[in-house]
Amino acid sequence: MSDIRLHVSCPHCGATNRVPAARIDDVPVCGRCGEALQDGRPLELTDADFDAVVGATSRPVLVDFWAPWCGPCRMMAPAFEQAGRQLGQRALLVKVNSDDNPRLAGRFGIRSIPTLVKIEHGRETARQSGALPAGAIVALASR
Ligand SMILES: [Zn+2]
Repeated sequence: MSDIRLHVSCPHCGATNRVPAARIDDVPVCGRCGEALQDGRPLELTDADFDAVVGATSRPVLVDFWAPWCGPCRMMAPAFEQAGRQLGQRALLVKVNSDDNPRLAGRFGIRSIPTLVKIEHGRETARQSGALPAGAIVALASR
């Protein structure tokens, strides 16, 4: 079992919590206020912790490859967050900055952004490039 820990800021009080990647499906609570840390908000992952999280979850994972300079990516960000709230614990939504994480972008062969990649049990099962509305993101994660 990996001992990689994620830094997750609490959506309720803002406190930074260190969550073991291996326990991502256990719905960790905030050490300060006791509220759930994972309310469906997308997790920001990197080359360093992506595999530990994706390998630990039993949920379908939807990865948003994006970059700060990409207009359509920024446009889709609120829709991605909305989809995360709608999906709750049914899926794990993840954001990967493709500029900062070249290893992941290379492994998944990301040529344009935004690109959404769906991973189930460690395998890519769907992919969609271009900005999507929240409903289409939920549908992609659920199908
Ligand atoms: Zn808190």
